[in-house]
Amino acid sequence: MKALMTLLAAFSIATPALADPLGEAIKADMPGLLTIYRDLHAHPELSFEEKRSAAILAAEAKKLGFQVTTGVGKTGVVAVMKNGPGPVLLLRADMDALPLAEQTGLAYASKVKALTREGAETSVMHACGHDTHMTAWIGTARRLAAMKDQWSGTLVMVGQPAEEIGSGARAMLEDGLYTRFPKPQVAIAFHDAAGLPAGVIGYTDGYTLANVDTVDVTVKGLGGHGAYPHLARDPIVLASRIVTALQTLVAREIDPLESGVVTVGSFQGGTKHNIIPDEARLQITVRSYTPEVRKILLDGIARIAQGEAIAAGVPEDRMPVVTVRDGLTPATFNTQPLTGQITAALAARFGEARVKKVKPQMGGEDFSQYRLADTSIQSLLFWVGGVPHGKWEAAGGDITKLPSLHSPFWAPDPDITIATATEAMATAALTVLAKK
Ligand SMILES: [Zn+2]
Ligand SMILES: [Zn+2]
Repeated sequence: MKALMTLLAAFSIATPALADPLGEAIKADMPGLLTIYRDLHAHPELSFEEKRSAAILAAEAKKLGFQVTTGVGKTGVVAVMKNGPGPVLLLRADMDALPLAEQTGLAYASKVKALTREGAETSVMHACGHDTHMTAWIGTARRLAAMKDQWSGTLVMVGQPAEEIGSGARAMLEDGLYTRFPKPQVAIAFHDAAGLPAGVIGYTDGYTLANVDTVDVTVKGLGGHGAYPHLARDPIVLASRIVTALQTLVAREIDPLESGVVTVGSFQGGTKHNIIPDEARLQITVRSYTPEVRKILLDGIARIAQGEAIAAGVPEDRMPVVTVRDGLTPATFNTQPLTGQITAALAARFGEARVKKVKPQMGGEDFSQYRLADTSIQSLLFWVGGVPHGKWEAAGGDITKLPSLHSPFWAPDPDITIATATEAMATAALTVLAKK
């Protein structure tokens, strides 16, 4: 609690006494940026449907003198500003929202409904805060356009679609992001955070978000009457054994100092009390950081499923079918020396207490794709806390008492979050593109 108070105190006295043109300019821009934010928040769009959002980013960037291309990777925006010799820097904001009914009670809460890709009607909400990302993208573009005399190099600002389904970055790369436009040496993004007070910046050195694999297991048996189990091979009992055995993968097979998650999120089978079904189905999410751990977990799932089926006496032609779905979201990695350089610049600007090293998380982010397309690219994704200070204090900093990202109640403090994110992204850009 004391550390928490110190953190918030550090926040309130962080305004430097010296002239701070960047901070002053952002402050002056905030009313306009908040108008944009409330509009984006009230008009969320699902993955690959971000037409209105993309048009807002594109129009802003055009006004500022960027060369703007839309429709990259379906709905992506690329805004390029060439400003003399120097590195190419990619700054990314994702644009999509989630199929979820907002329950924040905000005056500008979303009432939008849309059709999912499966054709079902759903409410839509910016529950991951990508509206703060887009607004800070505009704020950052404005500052960097206004400060052209203070940097040198090429700025590639990307409005990315479909992060929530893990496909948008890949779609943009496949549509020529690195061939039709200047290819970056450095890629930077931020994500709003539901686990940090508004305005506090969090970062990791190395892995920051996980490999996300999605696995389906069809467990086959031999159906029959519930009263005569000896005449059947019960896939429900077999699938139950598989679920239990899977728990040993993380506990017994990976190095205790490594991280992994195997969560069976769905277990389905059968129709009625007294029928032994033919099959049961498991849906599993698998998280890891390193390729080695990922392989142990995925191989282990296949081996355990097969081994348990053999133990259950399932005929050879009825072995479980294990499918690792396409579309891995790879782990996001913050590289050195970039991470050290940027976080030092952020600490100098915001004060040490507002720039904290945090733990990596097991969530996924397709921002990783920008580096994996060419691992010589330096990359950094940092967090910008969004929890309103009053709520943070009321919860005593206990994040289990606060709404998480993807919660229908997630409502970041837009003013502090967007101002901090804009200042941080502009500072990062000015550091990378510093005049030599
Ligand atoms: Zn999300
Ligand atoms: Zn997100």
